[in-house]
Amino acid sequence: MRAFRITDWERPPRIVEVPEPSPGVGEVLVRVAANGLCHSDALMARTSEAFGRALGWQVPFTLGHEIAGWVAEVGAGVDSDLIGRPVAVVSPASCGECAACRRGAENACVASDVGRGFGADGGLAPLVVVGAVRELVPLGDLDPVVAAPLTDAGATSLHAVRRALGFVGSAPEHAVVIGAGGLGSFAVQFLRALCDAQIVAVDPVRRRRDVALDLGAHRVFDEVDGHTAALLAESIGGGGADVVLDFVGTDTTIRWGTSVTRRGGAFGLVGAGGGTLRRPWFGALPRDGVVFSFQGSDIADVRDAVALAAKGRIVSPVERFAFDDVATAYDRLERGELDGRAVVIPDGPG
Ligand code: NAD
Ligand code: ZN
Repeated sequence: MRAFRITDWERPPRIVEVPEPSPGVGEVLVRVAANGLCHSDALMARTSEAFGRALGWQVPFTLGHEIAGWVAEVGAGVDSDLIGRPVAVVSPASCGECAACRRGAENACVASDVGRGFGADGGLAPLVVVGAVRELVPLGDLDPVVAAPLTDAGATSLHAVRRALGFVGSAPEHAVVIGAGGLGSFAVQFLRALCDAQIVAVDPVRRRRDVALDLGAHRVFDEVDGHTAALLAESIGGGGADVVLDFVGTDTTIRWGTSVTRRGGAFGLVGAGGGTLRRPWFGALPRDGVVFSFQGSDIADVRDAVALAAKGRIVSPVERFAFDDVATAYDRLERGELDGRAVVIPDGPG
């Protein structure tokens, strides 16, 4: 089968021919309906050997961590009734047994540094092996192509929104989303679904601002700068927003985002833009507030994102690309030229 792979450290991914995998004991083989493309994939290609090995990653591996499809085959010990069922695949792997997994915090599992599409074979191929049935979320009538982005862009932004609401309570007045791309546009929707906050989204790309407005943002800004901070203060009051979620994560967005978070508010750092969080003596961080960060999502986040989509309370807009156009799809993501999450439809197996 053809797979889009990282073949060596710090090398761009490419399409290569690989053998079809088969499921081992307790494992499940999923036929991939679609795999969503994430901004994080670009970071994978730049991962150094020292960094990757410290995480437990192996090269080569197939990229793609937003996977949905149908159960194709099951390993020994797995119920064969699952064959043919449509499923979403939880993005980070998890052991299911450690203290973090037992409390449902799978993204804190030590095994979650390696997952399908980051250090192990992911979904940019016709078939992918999933380690355990607990890492599959049944889709019912939801189209797997639409469901794929829910496993990471959806689940991660739901995780961010829930963490923030857990800190500030369920009735925030104002929320700000920085970066209304794949993750940020889901965050706008989850904020709309889970609280009554007025939502401001910031993105330099016009079509992403339009998408954010379509999906429920009340107001949009094009830049994180002093002028925008003043406009924001004018519209929500100088105290700042209860919740600020940064899906970019550069020095500029972190500095701006923390400065517009109210005292006692929550600032969530999700974007992996390489920025630095500074803590000078006065003023820079939300006083008596929380600054939080995390990687990935829990199984419940995927389950709940899928359930909200199945009920029509959120949507998962996608732009479909054929497998041969995977590089073009990444280019369009990089240039901010997408209206929905790019999903790649792999070849049929064999
Ligand atoms: P994306 O490219 O779809 O979205 C990023 C958006 O940010 C784009 O719309 C872009 O126009 C906008 N943007 C860029 N610079 C900006 C600025 N200065 N101010 C405001 N907006 C700006 O990417 P994505 O797939 O949604 O990923 C977003 C980030 O989240 C990436 O850094 C990715 O690596 C990271 N990520 C983190 C996790 C996690 O678990 N923590 C999971 C997935 C992705
Ligand atoms: Zn991702």
